[in-house]
Amino acid sequence: MSPIDLHSHSTVSDGLFTPSELIRRAAAQGVRVLALTDHDDVAGLEEAHEAASEAGIALVNGVEVSVTWNNRSVHIVGLRIDPAYKPLKDGLAAIRAGRGERARLMAAELEKAGIQGSLEGAYAYAANPGIISRTHFARFLVEKGIVKDTRTVFKKYLVKGKPGYVAHRWADFTDAVEWIRASGGIAVLAHPGRYDLGRTNLASLIADFKEAGGEAIEVVTGSHTADQFAQFARYAKEYDLLASCGSDFHGLGESHMDLGRLPDLPSGCKPVWHDWPEINSPECRVLSPEGSATQHSALSTQHWG
Ligand code: AMP
Ligand code: MN
Ligand code: MN
Ligand code: MN
Repeated sequence: MSPIDLHSHSTVSDGLFTPSELIRRAAAQGVRVLALTDHDDVAGLEEAHEAASEAGIALVNGVEVSVTWNNRSVHIVGLRIDPAYKPLKDGLAAIRAGRGERARLMAAELEKAGIQGSLEGAYAYAANPGIISRTHFARFLVEKGIVKDTRTVFKKYLVKGKPGYVAHRWADFTDAVEWIRASGGIAVLAHPGRYDLGRTNLASLIADFKEAGGEAIEVVTGSHTADQFAQFARYAKEYDLLASCGSDFHGLGESHMDLGRLPDLPSGCKPVWHDWPEINSPECRVLSPEGSATQHSALSTQHWG
C-alpha cells in the first residue's frame, strides 16, 4: 500500500469532503503525503495546509487542469505548483468562466430530454459554484431517481451521444503544461487509460505531452485496472516519464478507490517524488511495530535509480 496519494478532490471542485475533512480522512487512512488536486481551482489549498499541519501529514500543492487535446477532453495534474503564480491563476479563472455557460447548455439539453430543473439542482450540490461540473448534475439525476448512482449517470447521460452532453473547449493543452511548469510545478498526464483512445492516439497524446514539457504520467490511479498499471508503467519507461500515483478520491460511494488503499507503483517505475524534500520530512516517517521512527520503503529515495 502506498502512503503517497497525489490526486484527490474536495468540495472546492466536485469532491464530497471539505479540504480539512479530506486531510483528516487521509491521515486516518494512513496517507502520509497527499496532493489536493481540485479541478481548475486552487482555493482549497490554504485550508488544506492548516489541516495538514494539524494532522501531521505533508500536503503537496496541486491542481487538475481541464484541457482540450485534438477535440478531446483531457486532464493534466499539476504537482508542487505555486498557486499564486499569476498566469496559472488567470488560466484557471478562464476555465472556470467557461463552466457556467456550459452548465446552462447542459441543463437545456436535459430539458429537451424531459428533465426539468437540473441547473438549479446541480448548483445546489456545488459548494463552489465556480466549479459547476458534470458530477453535480450527476448527483441531481440520482437525487431525482432518474438514475440509480453517479457511475451509471456517466453511461446514460452527460457523455457523447447521450442526453445532457455538451461539447466544450477547455484550456489549450500546451498552455496548461506551460502554466504548471512556469509556476515551478510538474505536469502529470492524469489517468491516461480513461480516455478511450486507440493505440495510435494514445501514443500521440503521450508524445505530444512529453513534447509540451510534461514530465510524468499517472500509472497507478483509481481510474486504472491492474492491467493498466502494468501497461502505463511500460509507457512511462518507453517515453522516459516519471510515474505518479493517486486515488482520484472524490468521496465515499463515488470513487473507485478510497484514500490510503493505493497499491505501490510497479517495480521499475521512477516515482515523480524521487527528488522531493517533503518525502524526507518528519511527517513522512511512519512508526515501525517497535515504535521507532522509520520510513516506509516507498518513501525512501535510496531504492530508485
Ligand atoms: P467535468 O469536468 O464537468 O467534465 O466533470 C468531470 C468529472 O465527472 C470527473 O472529474 C469525474 O469526477 C466525473 N466523471 C466523469 N466520468 C465519470 C465516470 N465514468 N464515473 C464517475 N464519475 C465520472
Ligand atoms: Mn471530478
Ligand atoms: Mn480527471
Ligand atoms: Mn481527478
